[in-house]
Parts: sequence; structure tokens; C-alpha cells
Amino acid sequence: AKQSGRGKWLVFDESMRDELIRRMEVENDLRRSLEENRLVLHYQPITELKSGKLIGFEALVRWIHPRRGMIWPTEFIEISEKTGLIVPLGLWVLRQACWQMRLWQERFPVTPPLMISVNISPRQLEEADFSEQVKKILEETGLPPSSLRLEITEHTVVQRSGALIEALDSLRMLGVQLYIDDFGTGYSSLGYLDRLPVDAIKIDRSFVSNLGKAKSSQGVVQAIIQLAHELNIEVVAEGVETFEQHRELKRLQCEFMQGFYISEPLDVHAVERFIAGRSGF
Ligand code: C2E
Ligand code: CA
Ligand code: CA
Ligand code: CA
Repeated sequence: AKQSGRGKWLVFDESMRDELIRRMEVENDLRRSLEENRLVLHYQPITELKSGKLIGFEALVRWIHPRRGMIWPTEFIEISEKTGLIVPLGLWVLRQACWQMRLWQERFPVTPPLMISVNISPRQLEEADFSEQVKKILEETGLPPSSLRLEITEHTVVQRSGALIEALDSLRMLGVQLYIDDFGTGYSSLGYLDRLPVDAIKIDRSFVSNLGKAKSSQGVVQAIIQLAHELNIEVVAEGVETFEQHRELKRLQCEFMQGFYISEPLDVHAVERFIAGRSGF
């Protein structure tokens, strides 16, 4: 028994060591890539359901690895949160996204102006000077604060602390809008939305993808939308893939949607073709 016990410890040890080594490798690689400008943003269109009008884009980061090619954020965001690299990485994303949207607003002057949505990790919100940094980036790039939406996952706000609410309040005082991302997955009570300084929620893809399949998910989506509207909060549906889902969301008076049904995330050139194709520039 003793021996097998020792054996188990060895296995445990090795897998932990492997995990640590992998994490350090990714971190070193990623840190270098950030310095060498190997990160790029793709942008996924968001449209208004009622009119079909394009209202803006969500910025999504990709890593162009020198050997492995394009790497999706699901492979490196979590690690960079653990190592803290998400802080400089997140600031790079924010600056790049604001700068790019400012250029697009000049080139494609529609009313209301196109907006940009950026994902913010909880680790970034813990930085005492985060809202100062956001303010600085807005000033540097010249993007109007009202054109910026920051997406914070429901999981983040569920672990609410006084400090978090303060951070959210000071961001909102800058004039930027706050969105709750992946809504419905964080098990917050719905009534609790009332106490958060929030402009919109994004209904998680898992609910949207069941629309038209399971009757129960229609009820859930309908309840979420109704509650949000009672609280004067707008709703964005994410992961819309089919005409049926789109039709159902429109019927339920969801304001905005995003998903492969409209377009997958696009690189800068494809975005420009997309805007030109839809808005007649
Ligand atoms: P998210 O914020 O929920 O972003 C939506 C994800 O769903 C994106 O994956 C997008 O490509 C994908 N998607 C969009 N429409 C559809 C659809 O119709 N069907 C399906 N199956 N998928 C769709 P992506 O780009 O791989 O990003 C994954 C996650 O990584 C994001 O989830 C977000 O949590 C995180 N992420 C991405 N960029 C950043 C960033 O700059 N900073 C931080 N902190 N997180 C980021
Ligand atoms: Ca998001
Ligand atoms: Ca989401
Ligand atoms: Ca998600």
C-alpha cells in the first residue's frame, strides 16, 4: 500500500510539473508575441434586430504564433489571467480596439456612430488605476467614451465586492457603457441585476442555441428579456446561428444580435468590405 501511495505522489508531481512547464512556456511565448506585435484583433458585427442595421463590433483577440499559426483566445486567456499577463495584454487590446474604431468612425460616418465592444477580465478590474487607464486610452485615441462598451462576464460580477462595484461606477462615470457577458451562466439571481450599474446584458450562446429546439429555453430567454426591459437594460443575443433563432429573438423583442447568422469575426479588411457592403460606402 505504501508503495502505491508513493507511486501516486510521483504521478501527481509529474503532471503538476508538466502543467507548470506548459504554463511557463505559453507565458514566455505570449509575452514575446505581445512585444513583437503578433496579436491581432478580429471583429464580429452586432446588428439591431428590428431594423437589421449594423451598430458595431465586438473585438476578439487572436494570437499569430510564429510556428503554430493562429491560436484562439480559449487557449491563452485563462493562462494569462493566472500569470497576470492579461493586464498588459488587455490594455493592448483596448488601445488597439479604440484606435481602430476611431478610424472607422471617420471613414464610415453613420448615425448613430459605430461602437466597439471589448472584453475585460476580472484581473484587469482589480487594478486600482484601471479606469484611469481607460480614460487615458480614450483621450489618446480620440474615441468618444459613448462609443465604447466594456464586457464583463456574469461570473465576475457574481463575486461582487465593494471594490468591484466601485470600479464599475468609476468606469461608468467616464461615459462608457457596461455589458454583462455570458448572462445566464453565472447563477446570479435575476433581481440582483437591479443593483448593478449596467447598460446591457448578453444572453449566453447556450440559451440561444436551444431556441426553437427546447420549449423550456424559449421560456428562459423570454424571462431574461422581460426582466432586463423592466430594469431598462438592453439585451444582446450572442451565438445566433439560424434564421429561426433570429426570428424568435425578434418576436421576443430582443434589441441586438451577434453570431454566425450575421457573420463570423472578421479581420480588418473583411470588416471594411462588410461595412461598405451594408451601408453603401
Ligand atoms: P465571448 O466574449 O463570449 O465571445 C464570443 C465567442 O463566441 C467568440 O469566440 C466568437 O468567435 C464565438 N462566436 C460568435 N458567434 C458565434 C456563433 O454563432 N456560434 C458559435 N459557436 N460561436 C460564436 P472566441 O473569439 O474564440 O473567443 C472566446 C472567448 O475568449 C470570448 O468569449 C472571451 O471570453 C475571450 N476573449 C476573446 N478576446 C478577449 C480579449 O481581448 N480579452 C479577454 N479578457 N477575453 C477575450
Ligand atoms: Ca464577449
Ligand atoms: Ca459572451
Ligand atoms: Ca461565451
